[in-house]
Amino acid sequence: MGKKILIVDDSNTARASVEYTLKKGEYEVVSADDGVNGLAKLKETTNVSMIITDLNMPKMDGIEFIKHVRTIDEHKYTPILMLTTESQDEKKKQGKEAGASGWLVKPFNPTQLLDVVKRFIS
Ligand SMILES: [Mg+2]
Repeated sequence: MGKKILIVDDSNTARASVEYTLKKGEYEVVSADDGVNGLAKLKETTNVSMIITDLNMPKMDGIEFIKHVRTIDEHKYTPILMLTTESQDEKKKQGKEAGASGWLVKPFNPTQLLDVVKRFIS
């Protein structure tokens, strides 16, 4: 099994397509449907090498989620990629300030996603 990646997205289809792509790239995938569940998954899962999160989600959005993740010692420097339909600079700035490591706009190209992931965790 490859490295473990956590995906957080409230859209079942988005989660399924990211999961499919990552598994093709031989990564192990853990998934959650919002920020609250994403944090719970992080706490119960060891060795998560990277996190891919959506921005707009109920209960806890991607920005809030990232802020929380950065307070966990183990994940202070874990690469976090935001994968979202949002492309406004203001949102990107907020994401960066919260601690996002990268930004990819949906719909994503599978090859591009795997390239980005590889760049963060090779
Ligand atoms: Mg969403």
